Amino acid sequence: MELLEIDSIHHTYFTPDSATTALEDISLTVTEGEFVSFLGPSGCGKTTLLSIIAGLFQPSSGRVTIEGESIEKNKHKIGYMLQQDYLFPWKNIEENILLGLKTMNRLTAEKKAWALNLLDEIGLEGVAKQSPNQLSGGMRQRAALVRTLALEPKLLLLDEPFSALDYQTKLKLEDLVFQTLKSFNKTALLVTHDIGEAIAMSDRIVLLSAKPGRVHKVVHVPKELRELVPFHARNHEAYSVCFQGIWKELETLESAK
Ligand code: ADP
Ligand code: MG
Repeated sequence: MELLEIDSIHHTYFTPDSATTALEDISLTVTEGEFVSFLGPSGCGKTTLLSIIAGLFQPSSGRVTIEGESIEKNKHKIGYMLQQDYLFPWKNIEENILLGLKTMNRLTAEKKAWALNLLDEIGLEGVAKQSPNQLSGGMRQRAALVRTLALEPKLLLLDEPFSALDYQTKLKLEDLVFQTLKSFNKTALLVTHDIGEAIAMSDRIVLLSAKPGRVHKVVHVPKELRELVPFHARNHEAYSVCFQGIWKELETLESAK
């Protein structure tokens, strides 16, 4: 079943003295359970696209639907995870991860138990009463993942969620996020400028060209890589072949400028 349909999105930002076209003619459908990455250089419109998909603002033209309905009325079906974790420093981890449920009046004993259990499962046992300031960057991003999943989103939007972390933590979190999302059969869109991360995590990669952001090419990740956790995918022989292919595509884009 198609979960998400992105239909002919164009977006131009207007400021008093300029107009910047960030996205041009972006169309894509995403099936339930799929993991799709948008890969492209800084400034090619990745965050703009995710914000539009999240229903944070309307595109200049085009439409986004989730389960056949407009995104504006279905924002609750979307979970957003960003480079910065936005945990509130004056609340402890438990309060932070339950805050969304509480504000939406959806907090039940069952949901609380589920979220606290997930916190344990992803390696954060014993931190529920701690302040975010007591945790490392990687631990904070895990807590942010639990907070996002607690709201039971149909679709997860991940905007460079690992890019502020050191390399080892990033590799570990890729595996953790990958396995957690797979275990709940979640659909996810990841934006990244990291070719390896896109290959290791995705079923499909959408290569975006810059200024304005357009779909340059869609790459299907080979089956043998899709079945592996990211860390093992990175060590598979098919990985470097895929990497070289995408590298060449991005080089053509660079030289076409
Ligand atoms: P990315 O996430 O790929 O780095 P963005 O979506 O943030 O790219 O930006 C795409 C383009 O739109 C850039 O040229 C950026 O300068 C421009 N842009 C982004 N946000 C705004 C805004 N609020 N007003 C004007 N221009 C913007
Ligand atoms: Mg961005």
